[in-house]
Amino acid sequence: MSRYSWQRFSSFYRFNPSPRTFQKRDLASRSETLNEVMPAGSLKTYRKKRNLQHTPEPKGDGKKAGGKKPIFVIQKHAARQLHYDFRLQVRRALKSWAVPKGPSLNPSDKRMAAEVEDHPLGYAKFEGVIPKGEYGAGTVMVWDKGTYRNVTKKDNKKVPITKALKRGHVAVWLNGKKIKGGYALSRIAKGKKPRWLLVKMKDEKADARRKPTKSETKSALTGRTMQKIEKEEE
Ligand code: MN
Repeated sequence: MSRYSWQRFSSFYRFNPSPRTFQKRDLASRSETLNEVMPAGSLKTYRKKRNLQHTPEPKGDGKKAGGKKPIFVIQKHAARQLHYDFRLQVRRALKSWAVPKGPSLNPSDKRMAAEVEDHPLGYAKFEGVIPKGEYGAGTVMVWDKGTYRNVTKKDNKKVPITKALKRGHVAVWLNGKKIKGGYALSRIAKGKKPRWLLVKMKDEKADARRKPTKSETKSALTGRTMQKIEKEEE
């Protein structure tokens, strides 16, 4: 390459970062596989993956401080594949996992939970329809919500939630409308796409007969069904 053309080439890329950006956006709007190339742990990733002009999802710039108790939310998300997004508040973000089958009340069920990017705290109140062509397109319902307590212990000592997440062993006590009791999250695969298992702990809230994902089909926020949300929000 001659010096002249190299200069043209490099200045083009310096002043036109768009080709790469568009490629990323394009990929983001079509699939959730972007988790493979971007780290999960920051709201930057959340914003990068979405075109926030085109989706009703929160922009993640809310300044509102939360209450004293940290919150959790489980959102039913009819994307290409129906799943339940399990989110725990850690400071001003929501640590998030996509759980294809959703939570179980049976301690012998191991529910796969794919760690996804942190979501802004305001996302906990998001219920609506992500438009076709956008990242995660489909209907989102606030299936359950409430507060949680970090009950992670090691050698009989309390482990702070951030440390527990880092170590890959988290125990929480959920106090939701549909889901209550202890749940353990254990990381089974590290790397670009961390995988965890979500398992009901053996306590008085365990109930192998109740199948809340089947029997409870209405929003904990608005009482609406998925169909109603779809109708009203599109
Ligand atoms: Mn989702």
